[in-house]
This record gives sequence, structure tokens and C-alpha cells, in this order.
Amino acid sequence: MSAETLLRRVHDAVPGRLRLRAERLRGRAELAAAVAGAVLSAAPGARVDVSAVTGSVLVRRDGGLDVELVEAAIRDALEGGLPGGRPHALSASVAGGAEPWHARPSGAAVLAGGSDRHLGLDASVAEARLAEAGANVLPRAEPRSAAAIALQQLETLPVALLGVSALLALFTGGVADAVVILGVVAINAGIATFTERNAERTIAGLADYAPRPVEAVRSGVPLRLDPAGLVPGDLVVLAPGTLVPADARLVFSENLTVDEAALTGEAMPVQKDTDALLADDALLADRSNMVFRGTAVTGGRGLAVVVATGPDTEIGRLQSMLGSLTPPQTPIQRQLGEVERELVVVNGLICAAVFAIGLARGQPLVSLLRSAISLAVAAIPEGLPAVATTTLALGIREMRGRKVHVRRLDAVETLGAVEVIGLDKTGTLTGLAMSLSAIHAGGDLLARSEHGFAGEECGTPKVRRAVRDLLAAAALASEAEILRRPDGSVDVIGSATETAILDAAREFGIDIGALVAAEPMLALVPRADGRKRVSALRRAAGGARLVVKGDPVEVLARSDRILDAGSVRPIREEDRRAAMAANESMAGRALRVLGVADREGGDPKDEGGLTWLGLVGIENPIRPEVTPVLERLHRAGIRTVMITGDQSATAYAVARSLGLADQPDLRVLEAGRLAGMDPEVLGALVDGVDVFARVSPSEKLAIVRALQGRGRIVAMTGDGINDGPALKAAHVGVAMGADGTDVAREVADVVLATDDLQGIVDAVRLGRATYANIRKVLRFLVGTNASESFLMLGASVLGTREPLSPMQLLMLNLATDVFPALALGLEPPDPRAMDRPPHDPSAPILDVADFRRILRDGLVIGGSAMAGFLMDGRAGPRGSTVAFHGLVLAQLLHAFACRGDTGGVIETLGKPANQHLRAAVAGCAGLQVAVQLLPASRRVLGLAPVGPGGLLAILGIALGATLLNEVVAAASSRSARPPHPEAEPWPKLT
Ligand code: ADP
Ligand code: MG
Repeated sequence: MSAETLLRRVHDAVPGRLRLRAERLRGRAELAAAVAGAVLSAAPGARVDVSAVTGSVLVRRDGGLDVELVEAAIRDALEGGLPGGRPHALSASVAGGAEPWHARPSGAAVLAGGSDRHLGLDASVAEARLAEAGANVLPRAEPRSAAAIALQQLETLPVALLGVSALLALFTGGVADAVVILGVVAINAGIATFTERNAERTIAGLADYAPRPVEAVRSGVPLRLDPAGLVPGDLVVLAPGTLVPADARLVFSENLTVDEAALTGEAMPVQKDTDALLADDALLADRSNMVFRGTAVTGGRGLAVVVATGPDTEIGRLQSMLGSLTPPQTPIQRQLGEVERELVVVNGLICAAVFAIGLARGQPLVSLLRSAISLAVAAIPEGLPAVATTTLALGIREMRGRKVHVRRLDAVETLGAVEVIGLDKTGTLTGLAMSLSAIHAGGDLLARSEHGFAGEECGTPKVRRAVRDLLAAAALASEAEILRRPDGSVDVIGSATETAILDAAREFGIDIGALVAAEPMLALVPRADGRKRVSALRRAAGGARLVVKGDPVEVLARSDRILDAGSVRPIREEDRRAAMAANESMAGRALRVLGVADREGGDPKDEGGLTWLGLVGIENPIRPEVTPVLERLHRAGIRTVMITGDQSATAYAVARSLGLADQPDLRVLEAGRLAGMDPEVLGALVDGVDVFARVSPSEKLAIVRALQGRGRIVAMTGDGINDGPALKAAHVGVAMGADGTDVAREVADVVLATDDLQGIVDAVRLGRATYANIRKVLRFLVGTNASESFLMLGASVLGTREPLSPMQLLMLNLATDVFPALALGLEPPDPRAMDRPPHDPSAPILDVADFRRILRDGLVIGGSAMAGFLMDGRAGPRGSTVAFHGLVLAQLLHAFACRGDTGGVIETLGKPANQHLRAAVAGCAGLQVAVQLLPASRRVLGLAPVGPGGLLAILGIALGATLLNEVVAAASSRSARPPHPEAEPWPKLT
């Protein structure tokens, strides 16, 4: 084929714009991809559109185009593909699907993105591309609109029944009745819409917080970018703590590990490798040369070129595939849905019975039908799951006011059931303020004075020399980034531990800027799972030098020499003993102790043959609020365990001074023996341990899982990158929001915005209150509705006239169901709730005993109304009027009894008042009075005037029912079930 027909120039009149046609491209997406790549290599930064359908190629580039060069590159690609690589594509728009970048060398992704592995994307190109590719954000669930919620209200069973009822009314000539029924529908739907919309707004705001900027490189300039502004081709910098903002192909990596649990479910961080080349169909979890949006860097460093953003990322596609925008129902919502279905069935049966009995007695069909339907409407507690949603949302709003941000709806109810809290020591129990306060060097144990380590105690030159060597080595073995400004000042970016060491070195008079400049870093082996030390290979005067600092046991075990009075000699047994004794003594004072050693040159991966330089002890004060918080948790029957990477002596000292366990003896387990332990043995062990020391991240996870395996509901607190897996695995992960890392915040269910641990107590209290409140609402709704069913069923069994007309039943539903129930959901937390152990999370929200109690409530109220009805004579509307008002008043009073957990009103007297409930009850009672006094409503409801006798009868019904319930409650309270943990206490180790 001649060159002419291979590639035809269609249009080149506009500079920087070139349109070509290549017939060979038709139907060949792979080839189209190759062409796109070729154009980009010839004209970096260009925008290329290649169509495998029409065979057209459009190239645009702001800075102008070398047309000849571009054409040559395209011809090459058309004739044989790209040298050294397989064809690749710019984006899905070219290849018609996501490109398997993991199967391509990193250069392919760089090239295809029009990027550069050092300079990144051209800033102007990036901006133009953003307009085209769209923001790098995932679609999120929009709260339903008011109209949508209202429409859904109209689809419910009670509304359907009301509709039938309205039709029946119309056909039997009661136009006014039909209008009233429709009014009831509208009012009910309006109230429900209002409350549900508020709840949904609260819930939709759950995950809201601004994403932190990411580090990227554009036009060779390092920048901090809003993740939403990233585009394919952008070069992003990966460091521990980075939340990967988009899917990207690695172009450089060093010991890079990433926590991919969000995407693959793999709990432990995975190792990444730029140079790996994988098969096209490699599983997501195996794509070790890629990083994905939604995952978190846990260690090492890397550089990656973005290949997909926003909805095109793996997690974005997963989201749209699963349609997982709306969160699944929480356990309570599900349970309430179930309760509702059961009640529908039971009430349906009762209505059917009333209907059948009436038929058998020869009552007229249509009026019977209307009664049965009205009863169904009144007696089915509609919207029970919505009750849960509303109450949970109220709990969330309350928590937010206390700077506790809940990120998942079900976390609220789980919090209320928490039995064990795993507390990370460093950063959670202690703050992040650290300072170096003790040193062991040259055989001397030195405490920090007000002059740091430069004062009297470093009197002799020999000691001063030893301290200097130790601090300099510790500063060189640093994970922190030490940036030296042109003016000689030094900036440190690093963990609190590193900062404390560098501060001490500076205070001692070491110019750390000059120090790190004199011995530049050649390689760094960071901490990792099971590796509690940092090694840095430095270029020194006489060659390379390896400096190591970390866990004293780990470092000492690798030392066979010691620096003594300025010279190196073999280490002796007594040197080791002295070092370990100093370690114990520092750790006993709750210091974090690190050993320091160095060596001349060699492979940094092999850390043997070190020269021991000494120990540094770092003080890390406990957060002041922790001790009272732990006390509160213990009183609430919640066990607290401490999980830390520090050694057991340090951990023990901290736990001691905190009062970690509510018993005199603390039980400490040193991990290391924990690794590889049989899960069953570990499970048996974890129940009895208060302090887990020297724990690695994977062991942290194992501990959480083992506790869960024992059937415990586990909360875990943490702040660090290494806490991620455990936070995620726990039933409730609680992250420190202020000083904690992004990674911890991202995986947590609850974020303490101010790092104040008191927030956990508040969260548990509100979680418990929410659970208790939902139970109260249930007891009220189910009990009062049952009373109506019993009244109507009783009358039909006894063969009396109907005690309540359909209209009265509807009014009852409107007056008593909604407002008192909402108000009960607003009950303030019971102060005594935190003096009790948590409820059994596996028990249903209402068990058989609860149902029995609720039915008893219903029988008493319904029975009282029946008695009033019968006493007041069977004829005329008077009996009905008395029964109607009596029943409403009894139900309203019953709301006060429902504030207690099981009993009557007396039990609740010690509680803080619920003003909402008072207002709701007063309002409903007022409505009843109004309905009675207004002639129009009296007519619609078929009410007779009430004289003093009637008033007495009404009060008699209400007070009688309340009293009777009180007596029955008192009588049966002795047989109440004991709370769960008493049945299965924590095992005590002897
Ligand atoms: P925690 O689990 O209590 O939050 P870390 O995970 O921060 O503790 O630290 C665990 C252990 O790792 C420490 O006891 C120490 O031995 C070692 N370590 C921590 N930070 C450093 C560091 N910057 N350099 C060397 N070793 C460190
Ligand atoms: Mg920590």
C-alpha cells in the first residue's frame, strides 16, 4: 500500500490543528490506540482523537504542531505498532473500554497521557483536559426530594386502605366523609414527608468533609492540588498517609505498600512494584504496578501517572455497577420492617375476624367493610422503619453537636451495643506531643534537664561525645523529611517521634541541616509490619554508613560491637545487660525507648554487625481527659484494652497510670508470640488481656478479629496509618479527627473531630439512648394500636354495637399516633444508661417478653375503654363519645409510661423531663377538646355532647387504665429478664 492511501491529510489550515484519515483504522480499536500513543510521543501535550469507526485522526496542540513529525509517527504506528511496547490508548474514548495499564510498561501510560515521568502534565493541558474529562469526583447519593418522599407516602398500605375507604364513603353517599378521609391522608403524608426529609438530609451529610489536597507535579512544579481537579496524565506523589485520589500507573516506587481493603477486601497492605508486568486479565488485587482510588498508602513512596478519574476509576465503576449509592438498611431498620410486616398480618387477621363476626350477625356489608378498613388503618403502625431512620438521624445530629462525626448510619446503633473498646496507645491515649527526656549512652543514664542534654549532666567531654554520636546517628536514621532552606534554616516534616529526636539533637547544638547535607541519604528501609525499626544508608566521608534506630530489642540483637569512650570494641554480655536495664528503667517511666546503632556501609537490607550507640527515651504525655473517660466506660460495662506497638514495660506503665482495667491487676500480653497463633487459642486468650504490647498492624487486626470471634461487639480507636486495617475490621472504627491521619479518618465509622476521647462516651451514650428510644416508640405505637384492635374485636365478640365509628378510628390514628411517637424518639439520654452493661446485640429489638408486655398494655387500655363504653349504655352516640375520648386520653397518658423501659409512669419519675412529649400530649389533648367543642367536627365524627357524667367516665377510663397498668407493671417487674452480660460475665484469669 502506498504512503498516500495509508494516511491522507484532510485539513491542516489552522495552525496547531491537523485532521487526517487512515482507512486502515476502520474497525481496529487496538490500532487506533497505537496511533494515539504515537501522536502523543511525537507531540507531547497534544489532544488526540482517533476514531476506529470513521478512520479519522484529529490532533490539536496549543503550542503548534510539527505536522511532518506527527504524520511520520502515525505512519510508523499504522505499519507496525510502536517499538518496544504493545499498542496503547489515551482513554476509553479511543479504545472503547478501560485499558489494561497493568499489562503495559509504565512508559506507555506516561506517553498515552501526554505526560512526562519527571515533569508531569503541562499545566495548561491539564486545565483543558479537566473541562473535557470532568471533575475527579464520584457520583453521590442525593437525598430524595420532598415530592419523591411524599409520593412514596401515598404508596403505603394504610393510604391504599384509606383510598378504598374514601371510595366506599363516596358510594354510600358520604361525600363529606370522603373529603375528611382524603384530608387525613394529606395530613399524615405531610407530617411523614417533613420528618423523613429532615432525617434524610442529616444522613446524606454523613460522609461530608473536604478531601485534603494531594501532591502532584505539573510542568515540573510540585503542587498541592484539590483531588477533584486531577486529570488523566497527572503525576501524583505517593507517601505514607496519602489517600490515592485516582487510578494511576506507577512510574516509580520504593517499598511502596498500599491498603486496598476498600477495593479488594484484603485487610493487610499489599506491596507495590513499578516494574511488574502482568497479564491483561490480572485480578484487581494482583495489579501490583497500579494504585487505585479509595486506597491508602501505608508505607514507602512512589510516583504514579493518573489513568482514570472519577466514575471511570475502578471504585467508581464498582459503585455504579452495584448501584450502591444508597446505603443498605441498618439492622434496626430491618428489624422494624419485620415487626411491621408481622403486625400487618396480625391486624389483618383481627380485621377479618371483626368483619366475619359482623357478617355472621347479619350486619350490613358496606358499613362493616368501612369499619374493618378503618380499624386496619388505625391499628397498623405505619412507617416503623421510618421511626428508626428518624430516631437514628436525631442521634447523629446530637452527636455532631458534640463534635462526634458519624459516617455510617448503622454505627449509631452499633455504638450503643459496644462491649469492648480497643485503644491505640500512641496518638489516642497519649497525645502527639513528644519530647526526648532520657538518654543512655556511653554507659551513663542521663535525664533531660531544663537545658536539654547540654547542661551539667553532660559535664565530661567523654559523655558529651557519646551523647553527640548517639543523637547524630538517631537524626540520620530518620524517616522525617529534613528540608534545608537556602538561608540555612531547617524544616522538618515527620512523625512526632522523629520530631522529638531532631529537636533534641538541635537543642544539643547539632546543626541537623548541615548533618544531613554532609551525609546524604542513599537508601531508606522504613518500618513495616513486624519491623519496628528504620535503617538509613548514608554517604559518609569514608564511604557508606548505615544508621539504624528502633525497638531496642530488635536493634540490640543486631549489634555485636559497642562504642565505648570514642572507640569501637566487641560488645560484652554486661553491656547488653546494662542497655536492657536502662531500657527497662526508661520504659518503666512510660517512655517510648528506641535503640540506636550504626555500621560502615554494606547492604541496608542486611542489618547485622551493628555498633551499639545507646538508647533514647521519649516522653509522650497521656491526654488529660483519658482517665475519667476510662472510668465512665468501665461503669458502663465496657471493657477497655490497650493495643500498642511499644514494648510491654512502656505499655504497662502507661496502662497503670491510666487505670486501664477496672481491677487491680493488669494483664499484659507481648505480641510476637501472637503471630501465627491458632485463632482459637488467640480467641481464648484475648478475653483476659488488658494490654497488648509490641503489636504489629497485622497483629492489631488479629486481636480485633479474635475479640469479634468471641462474639464481642468491638470498637477500635486509632489515629495512624497502621491502624487502618483494625479500624476497618472493628464493628465501629473510631478515628482521631484532628491529629490523626487521613487514612484513619477515611476508614473510620466515627470521627472524633477534636480528638477528645470523651466523644466516645458521648457516642456510646447516644447510641444506647437511640436504641432505647426506638424501643419506647415501638412500645407506644404497638401498644396503643393493639388497644384499638382489642376494643373493636371485643365489641364484635360480645355482639355490641361498634364502639368507634370509622371516622373516629381515623381521628384516633391522626391524634395519637404521630406526635407522641416522635416526641418519645426525642427522649433525652437516661443518665443511668451508662451505669448499665450494654444490651445484647443479637437479641431482637422486641423479644417475646416485650411483646407480652405490650399486649398487656393494649389489653388494659382497650379493656378500660370497653368498660366505659358498656357502662355508659349501649344506645346512642354517648357511649361511643365516651369511649373515643377515654381511649385517646388513656393512650396519651400511656406515652408517659412508655418513657420507662418496661414499667409504668412511676419508674420514669426520676428521669430528666421530656418537654417534647409534654407539648405533644398537651397539643393532642387540646385537639380532642377542640374536636368536641366545634359543631362541624362533632358532626363529622358523630360525637354527642359530653356532660359532667360523661367527663367523669372519660377520666375514669384514662386514669383507670393508667393505674391498672401501673399495678400490673409493678407486679411483673420482678420477673424481668436480666441484661445480657450478667448472664455471661467476662472470664477472670486467676
Ligand atoms: P502505636 O501502636 O502505639 O501507635 P507505633 O506503631 O507508632 O506505636 O510504634 C510502634 C513501635 O515502632 C515503637 O515502639 C518503636 O519501637 C517503633 N517506632 C515507632 N516510630 C519509630 C521511628 N520513627 N523510628 C524507629 N522506630 C520507631
Ligand atoms: Mg498510633
